Amino acid sequence: MKLVPGLAIQKSPIDGKGCFATRLFPKGKKIAEYAGELISRREVARRVKTSRKHRICPINYQWHLDGARGGNGTHYINHSCRPNCYMRVTRGHLLFMALRDIHPGEEITCDYISTHHPDDYRCRCKSPDCRGTINKKP
Ligand SMILES: [Zn+2]
Repeated sequence: MKLVPGLAIQKSPIDGKGCFATRLFPKGKKIAEYAGELISRREVARRVKTSRKHRICPINYQWHLDGARGGNGTHYINHSCRPNCYMRVTRGHLLFMALRDIHPGEEITCDYISTHHPDDYRCRCKSPDCRGTINKKP
């Protein structure tokens, strides 16, 4: 795996492995671009059926990136209900942007809001305002 500069993969207190900053990412700046295999909606349906945990992010209605293949470390970014980054799609590129200054040693987290995980998939972010599940209920 080719890691994005400034990121490290370490054991996370939230879930399995996480993605940590090794340098300062200033508020409002790009952290990294999500990388992975480009797959269709049909292929997403097939993959989520065979595994409960996965690393698939949509870039639009039809196309998704599966970070489990060809990922650059950003696929280890865990969900948190009080995140320090957010995702932005720009011309087919999925970017992680810093919501605030992120300091070296901090785990990078993002509110995934809606994922292909089951709606009962539990969140363990431990933030005071944790909603209990990764997916946000409508
Ligand atoms: Zn939570």
